[in-house]
Amino acid sequence: MNKVRVRYAPSPTGLLHIGNARTAIFNYLFARSRGGDFLIRIEDTDVKRNVIGGEASQLDNLRWLGLDWDESPDKGGPYGPYRQLERLDLYKEYAEKLLDMGMAYKEYKEGSNKYAIRFKVPADKEYVFNDMVRGTLRFQSKEVEDWIMIKDNGIPTYNFAVVIDDHFMKITHILRGEEHITNTPKQMMVYEAFGWDIPMFGHMTIIVNEKKKKLSKRDQSIVQFISQYRELGYLPEAMLNFIALLGWSPAVNQEILSKEDIINHFDSSRLSKAPAMFDVVKLAYINKEYVKKMSPEAFVELCKPHLEKAGIDVSNPVWVADLCSLLHERTAYGAQIVELHHAFFHGSFEIEPEALEFLKSEDTLQVIKAFKKQLTMSNFNADDIKESIKDVGKRLNVKGKSLFMPCRIATTGAMHGPDLPKSLSLLGKEVAISRINKTIEILENKA
Ligand code: GLU
Repeated sequence: MNKVRVRYAPSPTGLLHIGNARTAIFNYLFARSRGGDFLIRIEDTDVKRNVIGGEASQLDNLRWLGLDWDESPDKGGPYGPYRQLERLDLYKEYAEKLLDMGMAYKEYKEGSNKYAIRFKVPADKEYVFNDMVRGTLRFQSKEVEDWIMIKDNGIPTYNFAVVIDDHFMKITHILRGEEHITNTPKQMMVYEAFGWDIPMFGHMTIIVNEKKKKLSKRDQSIVQFISQYRELGYLPEAMLNFIALLGWSPAVNQEILSKEDIINHFDSSRLSKAPAMFDVVKLAYINKEYVKKMSPEAFVELCKPHLEKAGIDVSNPVWVADLCSLLHERTAYGAQIVELHHAFFHGSFEIEPEALEFLKSEDTLQVIKAFKKQLTMSNFNADDIKESIKDVGKRLNVKGKSLFMPCRIATTGAMHGPDLPKSLSLLGKEVAISRINKTIEILENKA
């Protein structure tokens, strides 16, 4: 069998969108799971839509996601050039062959000697292919009109150029979005006209939002460009993991998968026929799992730029490290540290209902008052605060939950949370005491 060769063929018309990233990732996984080649070809024939820097940013974001490729415009390779505008002579040569064979014809622009070339669609023919995702698909040629292969400016259309390139680049499998299903019979016509082998096609389902509507680039409710996730402090391994699950699932019941795991489990027969739902909650969950596994140092590196951008003073590395270690468990992505920071320092103080219940269930007031007294005298570093709690315990002869809970609830409003002495030392004496005062007030009024 021929070596597997697949390609990702973006038009450099903008930033790397989630949908395109998925196409690239699935082709990459397909190649890597079968010891094949993965190449990148730039389809830039829609000249008006090309944007400056579009190609570079696509490649940059694919690299960030952890992809690598064997051939591309920036890397070269044996079947280049890898930009369509650099291959115009080849398209012209093959369009002329079809003209000579009588399978295409010229269509002159009115009052000009310029002409487009149209493919002459065979009458009454059925085009059948076995889609890797959807099974057998059939199309009737009578439903397809003679289509333009080369425009009157000499530039080929997508449907023509794609076949010439896929053939000469020895592409064996084509995984792409379902919007290309109806292009496939047109492309098959060209393969057949030249007597070339037809690659296998697989058309992936659309990606939908939670309302089951197709993701549109204008949809503001979902962040859709890879570069935006990067800016928000999502992790590339998590993004790759999440995107690989958009329309594919492994045979094992496991959702957190490294790139190597995914390559090992990748099986194109498990590509889904049903639309893939973009689940924002799941993305946050997956990212959080990867964030949790980061070392404290790596987590600080992730968070620091976000804190800085929000105008938070990060000049004291000990303070930054303490803050990060305090919030690490709860952070789903880098930029979220800022929200958590604000909630921690500036959030309003309220006692959760179950916590209030606890405070009222036993004599907690004396513990809270004693704790306040100790804190007032302390230097308020984490060790001092720990000592203060112990002293209260000794003096009042309380321990365990009856000691720790009142201290925690009176200063944080909650029964659970990160290490209390550390949290309080970051919060500062003034805020801690004022929260305790508020708690005492609540308890005394209610008493
Ligand atoms: N340039 C096309 C696109 O971006 C490629 C389609 C294909 O893979 O054949 O949709």
